[in-house]
Amino acid sequence: MAVQCTFSIIKPDATRRNLTGAVNAMLEAAGLRIIAQKRLRLTEERAKAFYAVHKDRPFYDDLVKFMTSGPVVVQVLEGENAVDKNRQVMGATNPAEAAEGTIRKTHAISIEANSVHGSDSPENAKIEIEFFFTPEEIVG
Ligand code: GDP
Repeated sequence: MAVQCTFSIIKPDATRRNLTGAVNAMLEAAGLRIIAQKRLRLTEERAKAFYAVHKDRPFYDDLVKFMTSGPVVVQVLEGENAVDKNRQVMGATNPAEAAEGTIRKTHAISIEANSVHGSDSPENAKIEIEFFFTPEEIVG
């Protein structure tokens, strides 16, 4: 498997509890390199656009409210098989179902406040990376 990039967000529940470094340590221990990173506050408009795929789901409004409730850290991660590797280290969406040793099992609060986002395919990774980063900001 070739070297790949994926997109990651450290969500407001994690930044609020000062867990940025703890999450990054778990990503790096899994073999992922953080090749771009910035901390920002999502506006309602940007959060809605980012999660547009979920706009018909019952939790959409709550999700947008949560994602705009505090700072997030957006990242580009690089590594072998990075998309799947990141999904593995993140763990299941619902922390109650996440495997031991995953970020969500270790740090998440609930199915919504689940500490991290990660792209689910290489195609979405490209779209999500371009949503937040210019090429100059990504230093591999
Ligand atoms: P992910 O790819 O594992 O992040 O999961 P999804 O793409 O299905 O959902 C996107 C995000 O929406 C999740 O990470 C959660 O923050 C939130 N979410 C998913 N399912 C639920 C739910 O049933 N209720 C609530 N409140 N939020 C949810």
